[in-house]
Amino acid sequence: MLPRIRVKGATIVSMDAKLGVIESGDLLIDNGKIVAVGRNLGSWAVIEIDGRGMIAMPGLINGHLHLWQTALRGIAADWTLDHYFSVLIGKVVGLYTPQDVYVGNLVGALDQINSGVTTLFDWCHIVNTPAHADAAVDALKDTRMRAVFAYGTPMKLFGTKEPHPADAKRMRAERLASNDALVTMALAIRGTDFAPGTAEADIRFARELGLIASFHVACAKHGPRPQSMQSLAQQNLLGEDINLVHANFLTDDEFRAIASAGASVSITPEVEMQMGLGLPPTGAVLAARARLNIGTDVVTGVSTDMFTQMRFLLQTHRALTNDGFHKRETMPDKLAITVRDVLELATIKSAQCMGLEQKIGSLSPGKEADVVLLRKTDINMRAAPDPIAAIVLHAGVANVDTVMVGGNLVKQNGKLTHSDLPRRLAELERSSERLCAGFDYRASAA
Ligand SMILES: [Zn+2]
Repeated sequence: MLPRIRVKGATIVSMDAKLGVIESGDLLIDNGKIVAVGRNLGSWAVIEIDGRGMIAMPGLINGHLHLWQTALRGIAADWTLDHYFSVLIGKVVGLYTPQDVYVGNLVGALDQINSGVTTLFDWCHIVNTPAHADAAVDALKDTRMRAVFAYGTPMKLFGTKEPHPADAKRMRAERLASNDALVTMALAIRGTDFAPGTAEADIRFARELGLIASFHVACAKHGPRPQSMQSLAQQNLLGEDINLVHANFLTDDEFRAIASAGASVSITPEVEMQMGLGLPPTGAVLAARARLNIGTDVVTGVSTDMFTQMRFLLQTHRALTNDGFHKRETMPDKLAITVRDVLELATIKSAQCMGLEQKIGSLSPGKEADVVLLRKTDINMRAAPDPIAAIVLHAGVANVDTVMVGGNLVKQNGKLTHSDLPRRLAELERSSERLCAGFDYRASAA
């Protein structure tokens, strides 16, 4: 049993359609679940958290990232996608030991908690051996955060027609059998572009294991691709259990096929613009009414906090829409999407993409207590009448005071509570030095 917790007197941004925003609201949590949200909740609690001067919001959900890269923060800062593939994927991956994966995943996940993320989708393609996969899962479990571990293929299988590693079956049966645990499982498959001819078998494998299958598609690939999304739909290979990452150059017809199948799209706006993957396809996804979430993708190339990614998504979509007005020699009569729309994509709608909306994504009674408290008293959050605008446009990592995952306090008073953090950070530094000694990352860049 986890202790009964009451957060008192906060501005509650519930992201629950019925509850909305509650000023001076209380949040009552019992045994890891939200039991009540409202004003003046008079009940006993073991832990009282003073929420005055705070915004209480559901934990952010990072829809797509590769945690294993954490020991190489920023090495690809000036790389194109081709550099990224030839150096990081082509050379560095082979240097990774299971211990590198463990410490990268552990510190990467803690970094996410530190920035207000309570759930992430770890697209793990550093699975050189089953021991690498186990190390990644060990790390996720040791952080006490909520995560979907997406079991990928070793890099050498990209471009081949080899089957997805059968070890995923062992992982599902022995270590990630429950869909109700903190760490659950998905399959990170190569997909239609990166290994033509494998999607059907890989998606069937995911379905056999009862898992979501996620793949990168239509990024940096102008022109014809091996297989369209409509053809996947015709083969009954597109459904609510399919997640498509980037999708920059999919056509409107393909987005309509995705929407009617109930599949989801993950946009990682910063890296898509930086490395030349293509413009974030936000407008086309929303026009087709497909399910959508936001991710950070690669710490090697871009920032990893969801506040930054929300702003990138919002402003690129607005800029592109506004540009359409300018091309017609007019001015915008309204802005595309609202700050609330964007916060939904990072909370409740992201939960829907992962099939977790019954458990997380809003501060609703009955859901898991995945809660973030942001300090409104900090200078960059002062005098902000609209808390949602403050979160999406002004908040940053520095404002994240408290983070709870399933009622566990994983960050408190601005500090991570993980007991072993200094040792793990030292290990990450050593992992980084060892990996960087194995290749010349400066010479590799243009
Ligand atoms: Zn990715």
